[in-house]
Amino acid sequence: MAATSETRAIFVTGLKNAHAMEKQALSIMKPQVSRIENYPEVAARLEWHIRETEGQIARLEDVLESLAEGHSSLKDVALSLTGSMAAIGHAVTGDEIIKNSLANFAFENFEIAAYKSLITIAEHGGFPGLVPVLRHNLDEEIAMARWLDDNLESVTMKFASLKEAGLSAKV
Ligand code: MG
Ligand code: FE
Repeated sequence: MAATSETRAIFVTGLKNAHAMEKQALSIMKPQVSRIENYPEVAARLEWHIRETEGQIARLEDVLESLAEGHSSLKDVALSLTGSMAAIGHAVTGDEIIKNSLANFAFENFEIAAYKSLITIAEHGGFPGLVPVLRHNLDEEIAMARWLDDNLESVTMKFASLKEAGLSAKV
């Protein structure tokens, strides 16, 4: 991969897509966390990752500024609608916490792939100085994906026991 203007354009597009992805992440997590009552450990981890995600967005905006591709060119409003629509869809079926756990696991792994691809372009396409900041975001996604993986069993068990107790209506 050569450090050409095409590589730069690919990199900038990837960064803007990552920015839209992080806005979507907020639109997925915020409605979820506002509805959780019975899974305080999930709510706490989501709150933590919401704050991490706000930091990730700020980092991406700094990177785009440094490439003279500032905030005015970020048109990602449309994407942010889809997350809240998914959360609403999961809310009506009674197994919201399970569906959200699966969707969040998929989303975090999508984010991991996005940052790995961006890091590859940064490393080989002439932006090695931006690798650490992208690595910072990647490491937070890896930690979140691992937490979801580690907690899927306990969340599923708790969902089953609440359902048995007749409390399944609340997430
Ligand atoms: Mg993220
Ligand atoms: Fe994430």
